[in-house]
Amino acid sequence: MRTVITGGAGFVGSHLCERFLAEGHEVVCVDNLLTGLERNIAHLRNRPDFSFVLHNISEPLTIDGPVDAVLHFASPASPADYLAHPIPTLKVGALGTHNALGLAKAKNARFLLASTSEIYGDPEVHPQREDYWGHVNPIGPRGCYDEAKRFAEAITMAYHRYHGVSTRIVRIFNTYGPRMRLNDGRVLPAFMGQVLRGEPLTVFGEGQQTRSFCYVDDLVDGIYRLLLSDEHLPVNIGNPVEITVLELAREIIALVPGTRSTIDYRPLPQDDPKRRRPDITRARELLGWEPKIDRADGLRRTLEFFRSVI
Ligand code: NAD
Ligand code: UDP
Repeated sequence: MRTVITGGAGFVGSHLCERFLAEGHEVVCVDNLLTGLERNIAHLRNRPDFSFVLHNISEPLTIDGPVDAVLHFASPASPADYLAHPIPTLKVGALGTHNALGLAKAKNARFLLASTSEIYGDPEVHPQREDYWGHVNPIGPRGCYDEAKRFAEAITMAYHRYHGVSTRIVRIFNTYGPRMRLNDGRVLPAFMGQVLRGEPLTVFGEGQQTRSFCYVDDLVDGIYRLLLSDEHLPVNIGNPVEITVLELAREIIALVPGTRSTIDYRPLPQDDPKRRRPDITRARELLGWEPKIDRADGLRRTLEFFRSVI
């Protein structure tokens, strides 16, 4: 397959590029480096089966030659990033998804959208199943991301129903691993950077809100299986093991024996979801997928990466 991966220089996108290359496919990585890094794909740049196109996917894109699959991963993803870039976030979810779908339609290629657990908002149903419609504040600070992704799902379904494009939608829950940016503001890199520098860990609120963290290799495997399947309805991919933010802070402090780090409580951001955990029944049944890397192992591997870049 010849695969176009938008957002391929980002955290998840760069791991996807590697996986597709390892499976013997050709990869065209499209990225404008808004929140991604050239360093993430530097090791791939000289391969004949890899090419990089510096392009803002919110503008139309032409690719010469055949394309078999388009994976649309371009979008700021960390709350700090999308709060800093609300309009580019709305544009890449709306115009960028439209352009990526247009490319897939023109090339008769499969299309896979990177959606998110954020489309469930601050959920009133727990754990979250794909048939839950969500509880999103459209005019709150997170609305630029949540509503962009909800629009992206809607236009993807419209291209499937109206144009017959072969589409997939993955709803990704909190994912972590090597190549996250230390300063991207997400909780894992924030806590790991802080513990490695011996600073206090900034726990927002009382730290009783929960998340469920999936290691990036597990996520990429689920995405690969979904692309090869025929499922056009959304599929949650995430690790169903739930933990409070305070417990996470304590686990990360325990990874660095002798650290001076303590816990520093900060105000909880507006509309911060109180609980989040995926129901992965559909992924299990349709894709035979479930996560394999537990948090202890994943956190160790990720800490090693952050040690090497700090
Ligand atoms: P990231 O910020 O590391 O990667 C996003 C990439 O998209 C970056 O390389 C950035 O430069 C690129 N990009 C942004 N706007 C662009 C544009 N207009 N044109 C071209 N490229 C553009 O974030 P990530 O964590 O790797 O997230 C990747 C995708 O997965 C996003 O769509 C995100 O919404 C989704 N997702 C991620 C998570 C997670 O926990 N990591 C959870 C849910 C959904
Ligand atoms: N969080 C925190 N301290 C930080 C960064 C984040 O306590 O320095 C909390 C945040 O309020 C949220 C959780 O950690 O409840 C996960 O935040 P993140 O930004 O990683 O992703 P989200 O799941 O909110 O999109």
